[in-house]
Amino acid sequence: MADRAAGMHLPATARRLPGRARRRTDVLSEYEEFNADRRRRIPSALWPFFAPDADQYYRWRVQLDCACIKELMTPGDRTPPSERRWRAPGDGEALPPGQLYCRHEDSGHAPYRDIVEWGDRREVSFPADPAEPPEWADAEVWALLRHDEPHTSAFWKVTLDCGHVEEVVAPTLDWKPDHGPRLADPSRVKQMTVEFEQLLTSNPTLEPEYQREHTRRMLASGWPVPSPERQCYTCPHARVIVAYQHVGWFTPRNEALKPACPAPPARDVLERRLRRAEAEADRLRTQLTRYDEGQDA
Ligand SMILES: [Zn+2]
Ligand SMILES: [Zn+2]
Repeated sequence: MADRAAGMHLPATARRLPGRARRRTDVLSEYEEFNADRRRRIPSALWPFFAPDADQYYRWRVQLDCACIKELMTPGDRTPPSERRWRAPGDGEALPPGQLYCRHEDSGHAPYRDIVEWGDRREVSFPADPAEPPEWADAEVWALLRHDEPHTSAFWKVTLDCGHVEEVVAPTLDWKPDHGPRLADPSRVKQMTVEFEQLLTSNPTLEPEYQREHTRRMLASGWPVPSPERQCYTCPHARVIVAYQHVGWFTPRNEALKPACPAPPARDVLERRLRRAEAEADRLRTQLTRYDEGQDA
């Protein structure tokens, strides 16, 4: 699991990784096929931005903190993959810099994270639910949950304190983040708290520990809706790039044709590099001070 505070991990190192890169010709023919398909849907004027030629890509091998080794390609310059932002699979959200999605069967549960930012809102319309209860509900429960009319809900994108993005359903269509959460009636919360603890005493394995703790936090804060925390389904699979290896340009470049002065990396990349270099300098200074103090003693 990626470190909870986004970006708070050691910088990735460039080194030789075990195994070897896939054959260039294999990767190239795969890319050409993928790109030809993609270009059918994109006007040719936009190809350089959304469907570039293979020769724009640099190849890397990376090792993740789950020990998996993956191959990546980056367009444009040779900014290391650990300083870039990668997306979750499909049309997934951008992950914090240097993280990559790697799903493992035993990745564990989706932890609760605090919501730190409210983003875009969208509305989704649903048809009326069928009268017949689904498999997972009995008639009594279904009578409570069922929407007998078509309805529309507002979904808000939220950024969590791990840096990942999830969606939250608003309590009503006109709700906005400035309104803050709505609290339940205090006497009702008191009663729910007593009943919840009684339920856990009689059935200790009812919920896993992290769910139980979430319910307790919700009860203790008056049952706020929407909740100030949300389960992060990305955290269990977001891994950190710990090392990378240069493989080379996709199509070998004639050194003589290379521009004399390659394009500098993006500003945010330079800023991150500077912060890291400063942190490393601080660390070395502290070590030196300790070393000198040791010599004096
Ligand atoms: Zn992995
Ligand atoms: Zn997360």
